[in-house]
Amino acid sequence: MRIAMIGTGYVGLVSGACFADFGHHVTCVDKDSGKIDGLNAGVMPIWEPGLEALVKANAARGRLKFTTALEDGVRGAEAVFIAVGTPARRGDGHADLTYVFEAVRELAKVIAPGTVVVTKSTVPVGTGDEIERILREEGADQVAVASNPEFLREGAAIADFKHPDRIVVGAEDEHAREVLREIYRPLFLNRAPILFTARRAAELTKYAANAFLAVKISFINEIADLCEAVDADVQDVARGIGLDNRIGPKFLHAGPGYGGSCFPKDTVALLQTAEKAGVAQRIVRTTVEVNDERKAAMAERVARAMGGDVRGKRIGVLGLAFKPNTDDMREAPSIPLIKGLLERGAEIHAYDPVARHQAEPIFEGITFSDDAEAAVKDADALVIVTEWDEFRALDLETLAQSMRGRTLVDLRNVYDREEAKRAGLDYHGVGRGRTSQG
Ligand code: NAD
Repeated sequence: MRIAMIGTGYVGLVSGACFADFGHHVTCVDKDSGKIDGLNAGVMPIWEPGLEALVKANAARGRLKFTTALEDGVRGAEAVFIAVGTPARRGDGHADLTYVFEAVRELAKVIAPGTVVVTKSTVPVGTGDEIERILREEGADQVAVASNPEFLREGAAIADFKHPDRIVVGAEDEHAREVLREIYRPLFLNRAPILFTARRAAELTKYAANAFLAVKISFINEIADLCEAVDADVQDVARGIGLDNRIGPKFLHAGPGYGGSCFPKDTVALLQTAEKAGVAQRIVRTTVEVNDERKAAMAERVARAMGGDVRGKRIGVLGLAFKPNTDDMREAPSIPLIKGLLERGAEIHAYDPVARHQAEPIFEGITFSDDAEAAVKDADALVIVTEWDEFRALDLETLAQSMRGRTLVDLRNVYDREEAKRAGLDYHGVGRGRTSQG
């Protein structure tokens, strides 16, 4: 199959490279010429495990190409995927579809009859109808529009794409279903379930999935608060409920609140859709509030652990990306945390294995360290914000000896109280009770 991928970001580049790896011929299009020049020179615009090797191998075989010229990318393509950004619109949080509609209008001028246009971007229910209307208006009326929301997670994007829990395809016409079935055929051989739905159901499925996961995270975070008040360990509670198959163990890790490029914007966009439809979504609304408040409260939590006043205190922060194995800083909990600590007069030394280049423009007045040891040296407190693997086996004793103070704030519950105590550190986890093992 010949495929064009419009938008070569986290989703477009990973999807394009994986489709090429399945044996399809893929052209990735992006209007960012820096990104395309870089990719043509073998330089990845993002950090994602395994991506560079996959891109280079498929580019070398001639199955994966990069261009800024939409017309070249779309020529001869049986399917054109749209994977441009759909950020939250300033002011109301509605999904900003400017990039999607811009891409569709450009596409309308060059697309051939019979091509299937597929939205991979996360778009509100009804966007497929609007795309169809624009295409018709621009004279490209013999084109089918399908929805194929993407569920990959940054940090595990290639594995997720190649071994998905499910593939959701929303289409109103048999030709579109046939083309998508053919594109994903290599995954059916691996028995990945494919779910064909109407287009609107597919669009909404993505928002419902992200909202549900966000609810799960906020739920365990509130249970963690309760654990702190009643002296129980949330790790035990999470395991106790997670072993129930009806609940499942994933997304039950208490922490500083969810961030990233998807959950915050998709939950708010879902609320906007619901409001427009005149339907209450109280659970999601509360989840958004709980999460916003939680992220905003993390600086105070660290200050409290340090006795309340952090003026002139030096704090070593480990992890800046919104989660491990990515350089993505969008809506990362580290942002309100560090900004809050700076406002309170603290001095920050931070280290992240890969996100430094994305973090530098965000933080003014902090020191970026080259490793965990340097960030923590002479610090009054050590704060773990992102649970990168390399922070899971720190030599706490040596770190403690290099520090000025004794406070360890573990916002990801990587360590436990006993371990920290043995190293001479005063441990503050999330939801670990005062006297429990945590
Ligand atoms: P991104 O910002 O990393 O990439 C988007 C790319 O689209 C950019 O490179 C931009 O230059 C390009 N672009 C914008 N307009 C264009 C146009 N008219 N022509 C060509 N290129 C254009 O975004 P992302 O994180 O890959 O997300 C893309 C979509 O996928 C969003 O809707 C997002 O919600 C969804 N999604 C993201 C993830 C994730 O983990 N990042 C997971 C699932 C779904």
